[in-house]
Amino acid sequence: MRISPRIEAITAAGTDGWEIYYRTRELLARGERVLSLTIGEHDIKTDPVILEAMHQSTRAGNTGYAFGPGNPELRAEVAARVAARTGVPTGAENVIITPGGQAALFASHMALLDKGDRALHADPYYATYPGTIRAAGGVPVAVPTRSRDAFQPKAEDIMARAKGAKTLLINTPNNPTGVVYDRPTLDGIAQAVTEADLWLISDEVYDTQIWEGEHISPRALPAIRERVLVVGSMSKSHAMTGSRLGWVVAEPEVIEALAVLATNTTYGVAPFVQDAALHALRLGPDFEERIAEPFRRRRDIATRLIADQNLVRLVPSSGAMYLMLDIRATGLSGNDFAGRLLEEERIAVMPGESFGAAAAGHLRVAMTIPDPAFEEALARLLAFAAHITA
Ligand code: PMP
Repeated sequence: MRISPRIEAITAAGTDGWEIYYRTRELLARGERVLSLTIGEHDIKTDPVILEAMHQSTRAGNTGYAFGPGNPELRAEVAARVAARTGVPTGAENVIITPGGQAALFASHMALLDKGDRALHADPYYATYPGTIRAAGGVPVAVPTRSRDAFQPKAEDIMARAKGAKTLLINTPNNPTGVVYDRPTLDGIAQAVTEADLWLISDEVYDTQIWEGEHISPRALPAIRERVLVVGSMSKSHAMTGSRLGWVVAEPEVIEALAVLATNTTYGVAPFVQDAALHALRLGPDFEERIAEPFRRRRDIATRLIADQNLVRLVPSSGAMYLMLDIRATGLSGNDFAGRLLEEERIAVMPGESFGAAAAGHLRVAMTIPDPAFEEALARLLAFAAHITA
């Protein structure tokens, strides 16, 4: 008897890159004060009005099995939201509700990849990407981006790795860099996926967190619309991380395939969670802006502090709840800097290396603690960088 090698293969590298986070939890459990800028979760909880909708739904008896691709009303609401934001005609038949964005990423790759297919993804990347691709039987292939290009992917780097590939996974606004892909980048991606005949999986879970410029969904580019699967989620837009509600928006044939998979894997999402999500979406853009606002404020705080020195460079970011700091001028790797910052200053940030080779020599800062603590952490991080470099 043995466990399938498929599981071992998911964490191919042996380490999962979250050592700083585990160590932070250990220190916190010992009662130490640690300023933790590690994981992408709001410092507020799900709003009581959403919880009330969930509670009312359970009391009304919506506690049975969910209907495969999702509550038709919720699918229609997601479709209307997508249509309003992108101008692309979208109906309930273009939407499947999934248990979070992560399940949507897995299902998308399961539906598109055959065993052994190459699956491209931009580097740096959200930590689960390679494992998700491997879990679906694919072979992850990183497409490097560069700090000097603000980590915007280039068509030629995609093309150079596209032979034999089936899919390309991108993420805008981006975790870990905070970068929002601009129109030339998306035009380049569109050209590459067309030439190489790839599906494009577009992870847009941070689409309500835009600080500058605009979010462009590649599904809005008519030439590639049929190739695009958009992954969305309530986790970040509505501070509903634990509720596990996300979706895929794509052509109806893709949605039908994903529904077959859902029937044989997740069985959909709890109906009372779907009702809460429907209520939450109907709160409209003002509510979403309120959830995003603290990150906008903290980005301003960080921008101001970083402008006062020239050792640590802020990667020009315009969205998501993260900042990427270029610390190469200190001479330390991201791993060494983050390790020492935690041990010597009790400030936890993620090493760029945890998110791929392209982010080496950088740090990811999650803007997920209250403003005064955030300001203190950033000021001390900058002082630490100056101190170790002096
Ligand atoms: N994509 C990205 C880029 C993320 O950062 C996350 C969560 N941190 C997810 C997907 C998954 O989020 P969820 O499953 O909570 O929707």
